[in-house]
Amino acid sequence: MNNTAEKLGIIYHPDYLIHTQGYHPERKERLEEILNVFEKEKILDKLEMITPEPAAVEDIALVHDLNYIRSVDEACRSDRRNLDMDTYIVPESYRVALLSAGGALTGLRRIMDKNPVKVYALNRPPGHHAEYDRAMGFCLFNNIAIAAEVAKRDYSLKKIAIVDWDVHHGNGTQHTFESDPGVLFISTHQSPAYPGTGNVHETGRGQGEGYTINIPLPPGSGDIEYALFFKEIIIPVIDQFKPELLLISAGQDAYRMDPLAGMQLTFSGYTMMAAELAAAADRWCSGRMLLCLEGGYHLEGQAGAVLHVLNAIGRWGLPVREKGPDLKPADQSLRLLEDVRSTQGRYWKL
Ligand SMILES: [Zn+2]
Repeated sequence: MNNTAEKLGIIYHPDYLIHTQGYHPERKERLEEILNVFEKEKILDKLEMITPEPAAVEDIALVHDLNYIRSVDEACRSDRRNLDMDTYIVPESYRVALLSAGGALTGLRRIMDKNPVKVYALNRPPGHHAEYDRAMGFCLFNNIAIAAEVAKRDYSLKKIAIVDWDVHHGNGTQHTFESDPGVLFISTHQSPAYPGTGNVHETGRGQGEGYTINIPLPPGSGDIEYALFFKEIIIPVIDQFKPELLLISAGQDAYRMDPLAGMQLTFSGYTMMAAELAAAADRWCSGRMLLCLEGGYHLEGQAGAVLHVLNAIGRWGLPVREKGPDLKPADQSLRLLEDVRSTQGRYWKL
């Protein structure tokens, strides 16, 4: 084994900084702070920095309406500076969005070649809210959904699991795959919160019934509650599904100081989630795991969480710098667990 194979891959392109708007929470400083932390913590020698290629329109069209794709291009060329109430564009946003989806695809190709087996794409704009024919929630194209479709098309994969730990429900991803039994979608998210979808009883449609799992956690949930649902639901379902590939919508906005949400995850919680999923990837996917950045708006908190996620999946053994209070799970979470268990118990042994 050479050294490169043991490194973690990081997808990054300086053009990801071009799509930005002043004090909008989803701005370039999010990535700049992560890169600062890599340097400050002297972990660059553990990482392979990978420059992505842009996605082709035909790749994007596996998930999105061709007319919508064209409309994003046209809107960027026009004077329009918004695609919906919260989703801004700049003149170069279309090109950057192709490069963001391309970041997920470049990561996918690298992990399929096992060079290396685990990659984190620090791609912007994010993707998981983007729907078939519209932008939504800071997202233009659904990067992770496109990666899953390309994995099916180019690598003939039959079973792909997507875990979305961003604090918001991954509505676009769920809707892309809700009728597809080949793609298991599991989302933890705050409820109530934007975008309002993702209740326990959304479990998939038709052939896809049972392959959508929603865990709408009450505000204030933290390390203990996330650990409970990973242990009781998420990992058991993944182990029964036995995916060939694990994709993570890894936004860090459930972090305790995030300005757009109200969760209490600490670096210890991110360490737990990343370690559990990396172990699942090792059990079922020959180690293959692709993470894509989604949200996360507390600059230092997000960057610290990314550092802890890398530390966990790379098994570097750096000390974990934060820990949540040692409490019992909140009663509301225990009731939610019973609700998820009885709903999903029709499809999985839980
Ligand atoms: Zn989010």
